[in-house]
Amino acid sequence: MVMKIKIHKTTYLSETHTCQNCGHVYQGKVCNICGEKVFQEKQLSAGHFFHEVIDFFYHFENKVLKTLKLNFLKPGFVTKENLRGVRAPYAKPVQLYLVTAVFFYVVVSKLNVTDYIPDYGDHNYYALSLHAPMPFAKPLDEAVVNAIDSAWVQKGREIENRMIQEGVYDNFKGENDNIKFYGRLRKDSLVLNTDKSKIIFFRNMVVVRNENFKAKIGAYAKTFIFILLPFFAFCLFVVFYKKIKYYGASLILATHFMVYNLCFYTLHSIVDVWPRRLWGSAFGAIIWQPFYLALYNDGVKPFSVFLFGHEFEFIHLVFWMPWFFIAFKRLFNTPWWKNLLISYCFSRLFFYLIFGVFKKVLIAFTIWTMH
Ligand SMILES: [Zn+2]
Repeated sequence: MVMKIKIHKTTYLSETHTCQNCGHVYQGKVCNICGEKVFQEKQLSAGHFFHEVIDFFYHFENKVLKTLKLNFLKPGFVTKENLRGVRAPYAKPVQLYLVTAVFFYVVVSKLNVTDYIPDYGDHNYYALSLHAPMPFAKPLDEAVVNAIDSAWVQKGREIENRMIQEGVYDNFKGENDNIKFYGRLRKDSLVLNTDKSKIIFFRNMVVVRNENFKAKIGAYAKTFIFILLPFFAFCLFVVFYKKIKYYGASLILATHFMVYNLCFYTLHSIVDVWPRRLWGSAFGAIIWQPFYLALYNDGVKPFSVFLFGHEFEFIHLVFWMPWFFIAFKRLFNTPWWKNLLISYCFSRLFFYLIFGVFKKVLIAFTIWTMH
């Protein structure tokens, strides 16, 4: 980040300076070899220090907000600028991504929105074979669901065994076939048959396992979404390699898309939550009701599902497709009919990668790291 140093103008432009860092002699306010700035003793004052702190945050925020706004409202513009070498006026892709991800993280946690955090059981949705051209993928989908389910059961057994071994139930002393739960008073004590005590063990295991899962997956879901970037970039590269030339360039485009997507997630979460808080759960996502009525009524629903996916996917399509369309037009000047098809395919593909693949991988990974 280049910061402005406000020194009297006469001191730099015409004078020559010797760089304090590399010794190069130059004119201007920044060393043209190493980038060190002109140094003056008054920069050591407290006033200058505070000035620089304020300057840093002001410029940082200004730049990030400006870039975010451009990336949201003018799809592909910041990417195009970046790819043709105009980078100084905008926040860097990684910087932009980190700021947006933190913002998303805070908003989603505060509002307690769960749309983007998988529950256990979400691995049953968005299977590949549910998409019209791919019924043959059914064995693969079933294998994934079964693998996750058996890992889940296995983890439950481990937890249950550990609870028993660690003596969580030590104060339940066995008498014949019975287990006795001692209360403080005699009348509060309870004698259970061993068979029934298994139900109690099982219930405790379920509570421990579910809490464990919830505590982990929330943080994972919000932290690891960047793992998708190389895959998105790869898909973009495969389609546009002639025009984009470098995989690195498609990584920049993928990052800008993900930044836009995180802004959209945040907005969607806010829009979804406030009507619910104000008027109750029936009013969740109230702005989508007209679309649902028009496109997902019994008459046209099968057609809409075929074309746009189910309601949740449709919301994403509405936001993603125009962004892709405008960005591809701006970056690659793709003819509109081809662009329409490509941006449609990317929207559906990325939705599948996030909700059909990434969510399932997250669920599996979370179960694996639980203990
Ligand atoms: Zn220098």
